[in-house]
Amino acid sequence: VLPLSQIPVWTPSAGQTTGETCYQVNEVLNSKISLFRGDITKLEVDAIVNAANKTLLGGGGVDGSIHRGAGPLLKKECATLGGCDTGQAKITGAYGLPAKYVIHTVGPIAQGVVGDREREELRNCYRNCLDTATQNQLRTVAFPCISTGVYGYPPDKAVDVALTVVREYLEKHPAQLDRVIFCVFLKSDEDLYQDRLPRYFPHA
Ligand code: ADP
Repeated sequence: VLPLSQIPVWTPSAGQTTGETCYQVNEVLNSKISLFRGDITKLEVDAIVNAANKTLLGGGGVDGSIHRGAGPLLKKECATLGGCDTGQAKITGAYGLPAKYVIHTVGPIAQGVVGDREREELRNCYRNCLDTATQNQLRTVAFPCISTGVYGYPPDKAVDVALTVVREYLEKHPAQLDRVIFCVFLKSDEDLYQDRLPRYFPHA
């Protein structure tokens, strides 16, 4: 189990440039971002996000891990929710997990092809999860790479959606959230986030 105090705030690696950024340096926002590679079910944060499917009754990938870690009471609560549409978010308890809540969202099924619709749906996932967190007075949220596994959203496109929405949300709601953790599982995703984070969260 990893408490928040053991999840470091992200800083650019030595020599990393921020040349392509279209955002201003904002050290307060920068201090709210973490990049963590590992199992999201180990994080002791207010909410972890689940990349679920429309049934909310469990599946493979991160969804399977979350249900395994939480235990059968999670599925029982999920079964009362009537499913979830693509881009929407629903909150439940986290039961056997160290997090306080699970926010379930359903990403678009892209299978390698991204149009305006898929991009908007993925944006909605991040935005609705952040809204759900703040509406429930939650201050620390961890996201997996929604839709980039079985749902086939190209990771190098998904990262820009994730970082754009989070940057803009934190700017718009400066007092609501203390930490947003991008919880990547694959080394390739860690590299992608390391590469792109300086564009969205440039350091001075
Ligand atoms: P989707 O169906 O939305 O594509 P997946 O679970 O198949 O969801 O994949 C989403 C991302 O979650 C992938 O990057 C995958 O590597 C990652 N992942 C799988 N297991 C875990 C876990 N335990 N913690 C964090 N991320 C995970």
